[in-house]
Amino acid sequence: MILRPSNLPKLAACPCYEPNPNAGPAAERGSALDALFRARMQGDMDPSGMAHDLNAEDIGAVEWAVTTLKVLAGDAQVITREEDCCVTIPGFEKPGTADALILGKFAHADLKTGQIRNYREQMAAYALGLMEMHFASEWTAHLLFCDQRQVVTLHFSYDEAKATVEKVIAAYRDAGKQPAICDYCGWCDKEMTCSLRRTLAQNALSVSEPGFLFEAVLADNETLGKFLCACAVVNDYRGKAEETAKERLQAGATIPGWKLATRRGPEFVDHITVGHHIQAIGFGLVLAAYGNLSAKKFRELWAAKFPQTPFPEETVKHGHTSLSLRQTHKN
Ligand code: SF4
Repeated sequence: MILRPSNLPKLAACPCYEPNPNAGPAAERGSALDALFRARMQGDMDPSGMAHDLNAEDIGAVEWAVTTLKVLAGDAQVITREEDCCVTIPGFEKPGTADALILGKFAHADLKTGQIRNYREQMAAYALGLMEMHFASEWTAHLLFCDQRQVVTLHFSYDEAKATVEKVIAAYRDAGKQPAICDYCGWCDKEMTCSLRRTLAQNALSVSEPGFLFEAVLADNETLGKFLCACAVVNDYRGKAEETAKERLQAGATIPGWKLATRRGPEFVDHITVGHHIQAIGFGLVLAAYGNLSAKKFRELWAAKFPQTPFPEETVKHGHTSLSLRQTHKN
């Protein structure tokens, strides 16, 4: 694997992490928003040439990032051309690319899509390289979380950035490194082959052993937590196993105990036809039959129709709060 700054937060969580070469839709959206962000910062206002379909929400998120970066930069010049944002980082085979450099302020900015996560180690790598290139002893990194409209600012001294990066690289290059179950397992190329995940799955599958006592699992909180962690890993394996079984059954193979079941698709009337009859039936009746619209969808419609008018947040209603179980650590 070629060491890249973007992998550092994952390697900090598990030194055995390997990026999956097949970028998912979230990564593709991230790249598309990144391209639009650079284009907008360089004065190109037409997103029609973008390879990825961008909706009003995506464009609104990028607009927020552009405006926020301009406010953060103030009078300072901002550079976003990829060729000018290359960063040579000690310990890395290839240079990284920051999203924006704020000249004269010893700062850079990085656009982030999706949920707010830890990017400290990646930002430390850029900061280290940029401090070397600009002969600086301190550096600031602004993370622009455009989906949440939130800025997270990190400050690094040279020593701090160097120690952060070196610690992750040393753990990654350690011949005796061990995997650590983490939030990035689902993005890891070893998701289905990792020895630690296999052991966890085996632990959960031991429920089928004759001596297994489920009452004992329920009786002890420590055992209950471990059992649920193991079940979460088995669930990932189950998804992959179901996919494989479906493909093989379709190809004519026999999987003992399983067969393909076909379900007729649901009957429906498309929205264009409904539109033709809506006046005759009555808007109120038809809309009531459609039910509630998600706040996200309504925000998108509003942003597309009234880009200059703030969304009326008071129209959003909240459903009942429900309780669910969330994993806080993985093993
Ligand atoms: S799947 Fe294994 S190697 Fe990959 S991140 Fe998870 S624990 Fe680490």
